[in-house]
Amino acid sequence: MSTGLDRGASTPVAAPPGPAGVRRMRRFGPTVFAEMSALAQRTGAVNLGQGFPDTDGPGSLLEDAVAALRSGANQYPPGLGVPELREAVSRHQERWYGLRPDPDTEVLVTAGASEATAAALLGLCEAGDEVVVLEPAYDAYPALIALAGAVQRSVPLLPTADGFALDRAALEAAFSDRTRLVLLNTPHNPTGTVLSDDELTLVARLAARHDAVVVTDEVYEHLVFTGHRHRPIATLPGMAERTLTVSSAGKTFSVTGWKVGWVSGPAPLVAAVRAVKQFLTYVNGAPFQPAVAKALDLPGAFFTEQAGDLQRRRDLLSEGLRSAGFGVRTPAGTYFVVADPAPLGFDDGTELCRRLPELAGVVGVPVSAFCEPGGAAAGASAALVRFTFCKSDAVLLEACDRLQALRR
Ligand SMILES: *Cc1c(COP(=O)(O)O)cnc(C)c1O
Repeated sequence: MSTGLDRGASTPVAAPPGPAGVRRMRRFGPTVFAEMSALAQRTGAVNLGQGFPDTDGPGSLLEDAVAALRSGANQYPPGLGVPELREAVSRHQERWYGLRPDPDTEVLVTAGASEATAAALLGLCEAGDEVVVLEPAYDAYPALIALAGAVQRSVPLLPTADGFALDRAALEAAFSDRTRLVLLNTPHNPTGTVLSDDELTLVARLAARHDAVVVTDEVYEHLVFTGHRHRPIATLPGMAERTLTVSSAGKTFSVTGWKVGWVSGPAPLVAAVRAVKQFLTYVNGAPFQPAVAKALDLPGAFFTEQAGDLQRRRDLLSEGLRSAGFGVRTPAGTYFVVADPAPLGFDDGTELCRRLPELAGVVGVPVSAFCEPGGAAAGASAALVRFTFCKSDAVLLEACDRLQALRR
């Protein structure tokens, strides 16, 4: 996948597909995300563009991976994933959400949430099937929908006074008798929105009415802040039977480079994902899988402390952005805050992001880059910039300090 968005800084950017590449992928060349990361490296700006932590995950997790590696967990794990991880995922879904997927038929370990999503789209969509997706959208979604030969039907999340909300009329209008799948993401990257019970209920009702499968990317499930609650759509009445829930260790345990993810849901849907997954990577992460299994069983305090620490950093960066003159919508979850530079006199987020290293020595990414050009979401977020706060206090403080230059 193409952009380096939310991936390691050293990740080389994919070359443009060029005339040799298949037609359906030609519009997915290097993007503004790649440009911003290169800009950060070239100028020495503080990079708050890419969403990966600059500190390691829990020590026990790292030690468990080392121990697994030393004890010989270095060959192909089972195609479904190691049993202890599938069992841990099942326990996790029960402990947090009251769901209880069968570890042998209803859980599949994947190469990150990315592969789970890719294999779900490729395994469930015929060419021409429609996929309803929230926009702004994680950069991989449009590319994967195109790769599957499916048709994207976007529903904008529109800025409100204090956050973002689903455009309900647009949601209803996005469904048709060709809708095969709804690709949800909550907590939502890039807006930091946690979909409300009302919003989820409407999605559920429409998915049921149109007999669509819901694939829900919940990689930020544990990074939710005070006053908000993440509710998997699979817990709504009648939804477990049509929902594939995707998550991964990367964000929860600050190990984005490990690429250990999983998908859970009804056996026939999981089998459809597996049919594709077995020929994409087959398997991955042998020594990481047992370590992640143990981490999923960590006491509740671990998860709440992680979220609390991240919330503190959210507030630190949000305060810095506000005092630099940005309008800030406080995110309910994720690694990201969206800032509005309109009060500072900027109405084009892309333009601002290109100039921000020179103006203030900081890099962010324009929210419009997560949108189809010309669409409602692109219009509504034209000025907005996404910054990540999953960085150390020192880095965030330095960024806040530098951003004050915008006031002058
Ligand atoms: C980071 C991210 C992913 C990638 O997850 P992996 O487990 O690294 O594949 C997927 N979805 C969203 C919304 C993300 O922000």
